[in-house]
Amino acid sequence: MSDSRARDADAMETSYGFDTVSGREEKQGRVNEVFHRVAKRYDIMNDLMSGGLHRVWKDAMVAWLAPAHRPSYRFVDVAGGTGDVAFRIVEATRRRASGTVVDINASMLGVGAERAVKRGLSDNLRFLEGNAEALDLPDNAYDAYTIAFGIRNVPRIQTALEEAFRVLKPGGRFLCLEFSEVDVPGLDALYDAWSFRGIPAIGERVAKDRESYEYLVESIRRFPNQPNFAAAIEKAGFERVTYRNLTGGIAAIHSGWKL
Ligand code: SAM
Repeated sequence: MSDSRARDADAMETSYGFDTVSGREEKQGRVNEVFHRVAKRYDIMNDLMSGGLHRVWKDAMVAWLAPAHRPSYRFVDVAGGTGDVAFRIVEATRRRASGTVVDINASMLGVGAERAVKRGLSDNLRFLEGNAEALDLPDNAYDAYTIAFGIRNVPRIQTALEEAFRVLKPGGRFLCLEFSEVDVPGLDALYDAWSFRGIPAIGERVAKDRESYEYLVESIRRFPNQPNFAAAIEKAGFERVTYRNLTGGIAAIHSGWKL
């Protein structure tokens, strides 16, 4: 399956799962339909598909970020969907930091905003509809930019990385959590079976939507592997780019600094 991986971020512009689409508008349109359809079931599906592991991975991302416990700490969580990462960052700062959750999909943001109210976090967070490729945010404004399981859905990944660089303050931190390339012999076969048989079957049963989950699984396999994605981050201007594998490379966190 690793043969199907894009070598560089630009090659993702017209890939929709294993299909090739006419252009980035068609890709974004189809991605938007997927997340509109799954929004209400998104959180429960994440637990079912990953056996709860997505929580551990998101915790690992926020632990690596180690956000400062000060009210002036500002972050943006792009493709933030239903708010999972933003909630964790605010909690990690003992509810001092404030963040902007940006997502292109109003259905996902709607679920996120409701969850923020229930958790008493709406004073710390605002939810903003917008595109990772053209953020309606000022230059040099944020201490951190995070994106979790989002960037592979964005047609122009390199443009999104340049936007991340633009909005971060000098000294600001970029962190991206994304599915990646498994590097443990044996685990890859098991992971393939779960991805291509298990996950679409759960999607069909729980979310009544096999197709969306086939897209999610296929898009994971198209995304550049760890070193190739690190190169894209460097190309956007970031320095000290490193990554950590999680669960044998099923997911990876990439880190970079705007210096
Ligand atoms: N970050 C959340 C999490 O980890 O639970 C949500 C991840 S979800 C798999 C991917 C999100 O990316 C969706 O909410 C989708 O609407 C968003 N997305 C897709 N294309 C986008 C774009 N061009 N700009 C901003 N968000 C986008």
